Amino acid sequence: MKNVRNSRTAPSGDDSELTYSELNFAAASQNSTIHTSAEPETTYAQIAVRSQSAQPNAGSEVAPGKDQRQQETAGGTNSKKSRCLGLVALLIIISLFAIIIGLTVYVLQLTQDFSEAKKEQRTLRERGDWLNASLANSVRNLTEMSGRFQNISETLSQSRQKAISLCATLRNMSDSLCPSGWKLHNHSCYRFSIATENWDTAKRECESLNSHLLIINTDQEQNFAIKSMPDKNKQYFIGLTDRGSEGNWKWVDGTPVSKSHWLKNQPDNWNGDEHCGTVSKVDGEDVFGWNDVPCSMEFPFICEKLAPSSIGAAAFEKYCP
Ligand code: CA
Ligand code: CA
Ligand code: CA
Repeated sequence: MKNVRNSRTAPSGDDSELTYSELNFAAASQNSTIHTSAEPETTYAQIAVRSQSAQPNAGSEVAPGKDQRQQETAGGTNSKKSRCLGLVALLIIISLFAIIIGLTVYVLQLTQDFSEAKKEQRTLRERGDWLNASLANSVRNLTEMSGRFQNISETLSQSRQKAISLCATLRNMSDSLCPSGWKLHNHSCYRFSIATENWDTAKRECESLNSHLLIINTDQEQNFAIKSMPDKNKQYFIGLTDRGSEGNWKWVDGTPVSKSHWLKNQPDNWNGDEHCGTVSKVDGEDVFGWNDVPCSMEFPFICEKLAPSSIGAAAFEKYCP
């Protein structure tokens, strides 16, 4: 006799399943038919199915023919369930595989993004380091330039003081270098004659003294000439003429008159014969200005020349105000 213990469910009449804890197969008895070699299968004369919950009881054994049909029915059900379970398992495996592939792709994407982010972070850090280095270098250069600028400012201040001192020295030397009888004004020497001459003689006399008839370049020079006239009631020839072209007044050095100081209603070219200029005073008034007179008349005159140490008078005026 061969016993097979198994636990499974069996269909019942009300479609509820019973659980069997033991299935017994009884070998055929001696009275059973002996199979020939053509029928090698063992024939079980008895299959005892005992309920799991019930006590083993000989009366619960089922007849061999009915058990076989139930077994076949159960086998078919089990086969369907197995196929279903296999299919479910296959779907689960496929799903898991798909999930694993998806996760792998996701992780790879994350890894690539992380790598790119790290690369960008490294680039940004390098750029930041470069900017910081450039800024530090600029600050260092600026500091250095500031120091140089301060040194230059100090040197410039010292040079300015030296220039002022040199200008004062040069001015003193100029003052002492005008010839006797000449007056110094702004690096030029001026001579106011006592004798009277016509304009041409006066011009030649100034030239014989290495000078020229007065050329009034500025208001300051005009005021100086008026203030220094020995006799303010007399007219003094200056280096002004329109002989070349009537009404086109020029200085003796050929330069045009840039700013005139003509008295009211002058020049009038009286009788068509007034072509030389004088500095004169309006009668009865403290008003001085230019007047055109006949060149043949005789008046005192004013000569002008640069002081010997002021040959570079223009530069001196510019750098030693
Ligand atoms: Ca002058
Ligand atoms: Ca004239
Ligand atoms: Ca006149």
